Amino acid sequence: ILGMLFFYAIVFFVIWRFSYVIAQPLSDLADSASQLNQPDAEKNIRKIRPWYFEVAQFQKALLFSANHFQQTVDELNAIVKTDPLTGFYNRRGMQMYVDTFEKQQTNFAILAINIDHFKTVNDQYGHAEGDRVLQHIAWQIQEQCRDQDICCRIGGEEFIVLLPNASYSLAQKVASRILQNRTQDKIEGIAQVTVSIGIAHWPTHHQNIDQTLQLADQHLYQAKADGRNCIR
Ligand code: GH3
Ligand code: MG
Repeated sequence: ILGMLFFYAIVFFVIWRFSYVIAQPLSDLADSASQLNQPDAEKNIRKIRPWYFEVAQFQKALLFSANHFQQTVDELNAIVKTDPLTGFYNRRGMQMYVDTFEKQQTNFAILAINIDHFKTVNDQYGHAEGDRVLQHIAWQIQEQCRDQDICCRIGGEEFIVLLPNASYSLAQKVASRILQNRTQDKIEGIAQVTVSIGIAHWPTHHQNIDQTLQLADQHLYQAKADGRNCIR
């Protein structure tokens, strides 16, 4: 009887151990499936060792889903921060960088740029041509900036450029280049289109970032009041 008990105990232990080894990767994969929204989901799935066919298939399918999920999240993240017409950051994208600069205490200059009499362009040439002008000017603004500068379209015909670690005088130079470019360049089939620019610098002009952005806006409106096609 003792021998039989011992035998059954061993058989029971082997079956228990074997079913544990079979079930463990399935249980790990199920855990990973419930955490697909975590940034290291793919890494965690890859850590699981598929030692039989069905688990390997399950792991492959889960990796595909994790990949697809991450891609969709990245695409959506990019879409919510981007202006589709110009490819520039929108207001949300701009705010993300402003917050980062504030957190890292990175000083930056702000160019608030507005196209002059843009309504006339739309009235004269139509909305589609207006869009083409917007794109042309946006890309031209970007050409005058450094790679690390953040170009944003925050309204219909209003742009903001954030220039991290740029001095006030560098911001003035960039603004002058943009202005000069506009007066020299001709957009095919469109009469000359100029811009007005307001500049401010954080934290030189104000300790508060929102107030500094408002200051750039005030300077822009001063440029408009002073006859447009100028920098203030
Ligand atoms: P100001 O020199 O004072 O800035 O005059 P403005 O005509 O540029 O300014 P206003 O605010 O009077 O008109 C802006 C125009 O921009 C009106 C609107 O129809 C046009 N607009 C806004 N968003 C878009 C867009 O996405 N595409 C096009 N084509 N036009 C736009
Ligand atoms: Mg305008």
